[in-house]
Amino acid sequence: MDSGLKDRVAVVTGGSSGIGLATAELLLSEGAKVAICGRDQARLDQASAGLEQKFGKDHVLAQRCDVLNQPDVAALRDAVEKRFGGADILINNAGAGRMISWADTTDEIVRDELNLKFFSVIHPTRAFRPLLERSGAGAIVCVNALVAVQPEKFMIATGSARAGVLTMAKGLSFELAPKIRVNSVLLGLIESGQWERRFKAGLSKGKSRDEWFAELAADRHIPVGRFGKPHEPAAAIVFLASPLAAFITGATLEVTGGQGRHV
Ligand code: NDP
Repeated sequence: MDSGLKDRVAVVTGGSSGIGLATAELLLSEGAKVAICGRDQARLDQASAGLEQKFGKDHVLAQRCDVLNQPDVAALRDAVEKRFGGADILINNAGAGRMISWADTTDEIVRDELNLKFFSVIHPTRAFRPLLERSGAGAIVCVNALVAVQPEKFMIATGSARAGVLTMAKGLSFELAPKIRVNSVLLGLIESGQWERRFKAGLSKGKSRDEWFAELAADRHIPVGRFGKPHEPAAAIVFLASPLAAFITGATLEVTGGQGRHV
């Protein structure tokens, strides 16, 4: 099946690690040109070196950018336009979840979560909108989480912010149509940089990585019985971004191994 992505230009925020990096790889393997960003220069350099080695320098642009910083995002947009002449696809992926008890959740933490979840979508969407509108096949995919619709303990601030962003994406799908499609993926537990960091920070309380991941998967009653691998959400993200999904907008696709309990 032809994904129709050859020579399309895609921007993946947070493309230097985990799900974003796997998405960038898949887009490149389908023939797209890809820009990635992140805040940590060393992580970005390592990711872009790997991508350039596999897919060639001409197809990859890596630029340091904090998506919460508007000038950074505008500079990324300008660099993408200068290098690739425009953009067809924006993957709003940059971010992280925060696991914390309600008792420890201060007002400042709630504000931080709302700020990160909302403005990691708002800034890139505003900045890239003119380019995407010019594309003729503009598409935005927002990487969201199952907690947006299925609340969990220890994720109250994150989940509330996620729910707001899901509503935002749906509203954008109406307002940006027909030039830009806007869809969301809701992720369950996916192996990635943030879970590796949680393991290294000692959240597993002495269990091995495999034991801890298996315990978490069992605790969340994931029917498939395991964490997802980054290439699994990447496949859903790339499908929604591609012309294969030209008649799909305002949709929400769960990539959770069946963890969602609602109909
Ligand atoms: P990773 O930590 O592996 O990747 C996160 C990426 O986002 C990194 O490239 C990071 O780079 C970048 N990033 C974070 N904050 C910013 C910022 N302010 N500006 C620019 N880049 C930023 O985690 P995942 O791959 O797991 O996360 C990808 C997305 O998926 C996130 O939004 C996450 O919340 C979401 N998600 C993940 C789940 C999972 O189980 N893995 C579950 C549900 C949702 P740097 O730190 O250098 O800036």
